[in-house]
Amino acid sequence: MKLQFYNSVTSKKEEFKSLSDKEVLVYGCGPTVYNSPHIGNFRTFVFYDLLNRVLLQNGYVVKNVINITDIDDKIIDRVNNEGVGFKELTQKYERIFLDQSSTINILPSTFNPRASEHISEMIDFIKALMAKGVAYNIDGNIFFDTKEYSKYGKFVNIDDDNLSREDNELGKKHPNDFALWKAWKDSDGEITWESDWGNGRPAWHTECAVLGTQLLGDSIDIHCGGIDLKFPHHENESAQVEALLGNKFANYWLHSEHLIFDSEKMSKSLGNTLSISDLLTKYSAETLRLFLLSSHYRSKVSFSEKKLDDSSKMIDKINRFVNNVDLATIDINGVDYSRFHLDFLDALNDDLNTPEALGVFFDFINTVNKNINNDSMTDDLRIQSKIFINLFNSIFCVINTSSSDKMFIPKDIQNLASLREEMRSKFEWNEADKLRQMIDNLGWLIEDTKDGQKLIQKK
Ligand SMILES: [Zn+2]
Repeated sequence: MKLQFYNSVTSKKEEFKSLSDKEVLVYGCGPTVYNSPHIGNFRTFVFYDLLNRVLLQNGYVVKNVINITDIDDKIIDRVNNEGVGFKELTQKYERIFLDQSSTINILPSTFNPRASEHISEMIDFIKALMAKGVAYNIDGNIFFDTKEYSKYGKFVNIDDDNLSREDNELGKKHPNDFALWKAWKDSDGEITWESDWGNGRPAWHTECAVLGTQLLGDSIDIHCGGIDLKFPHHENESAQVEALLGNKFANYWLHSEHLIFDSEKMSKSLGNTLSISDLLTKYSAETLRLFLLSSHYRSKVSFSEKKLDDSSKMIDKINRFVNNVDLATIDINGVDYSRFHLDFLDALNDDLNTPEALGVFFDFINTVNKNINNDSMTDDLRIQSKIFINLFNSIFCVINTSSSDKMFIPKDIQNLASLREEMRSKFEWNEADKLRQMIDNLGWLIEDTKDGQKLIQKK
């Protein structure tokens, strides 16, 4: 059962091979914190979470970054137009993003760095690019020189008409060149930092390139984002890192498709957005999560209330099934996995095919329900049901697990707990605390006893 992902660089599915045996390094571009997230943004964040959980299920420990873009033109516009403080604005929307992520059962990231707290590293990075001869200064704006980097064009054919039009007004030399640093202008007000080439601020492509390499390393396993980030953002992130360090920045680039609303891409600038907070007043977090996971991450999906209603009905069906099977007293030790169980894992390992995995789960529900209705439910089927429901929920996370066996500890929880033990043995208390929080968010409490860690499922 090999794990494979569709790599946007090669445009094909490739078997996943991690850089290290145990740990997988993943970078996902995070929110620009100037507004409440909408359901389209969360399609991407739930996709990151799906990837994370499937990696955990495959026995990997995941070290990941979802950055907080708190320096951006849109943020500066709001600060100017509304007279609100920069930190007040960005930290408010960062909190909303993190709270809503937790409500939708997204596992916490290892790091959520704010761009504004890594400026000196960004300045050093830009200096190094200038020293290497791949960046130049025009009036205090620093640009990456795409003519000095022969591998530019990882994601697009740069001879096509796909060229980036950004920052044309700043006087760059070639159409695809892009800003690393933007010189201060009146409208930036107090949002500015000093550098060797004058006051200003880092540009977005540089923020992600620096946060990724600083926190995860020069080479990472997987870089992901929404499809609209592929070009120019990811092209430019990758070009900076690879031009400077001479190695491959990320081995796999994964991109999730748009959520469509009335045939238009859902985005804040189009104003056709549905905020998560509005939707949560009408639908449960589990319904939103199941809706987002019921399509493959690489297919375009139209938003409709009917689809949310269908997801809500599916959740009712799943919960009725879980209650019917009455799993509380079942001992699941020493039983082989069912065919359904293996098919479910195969589907997820085949480029995160959630619609197929969901189909397998519903086939299983129908099979077991038939047995219940015929009074032909066997102990074996009951045990397999329990194992499968636990597995299903460790990925989809839409069932209230209070009815499941308190003694069964899923593999992803065990992996996190053993990593925590390792961090404690190295006195890395911060890392250990983060892992405790991740385990807690997955519904398990950890107690440190003289015999070691003890895991207890929350009621
Ligand atoms: Zn990014």
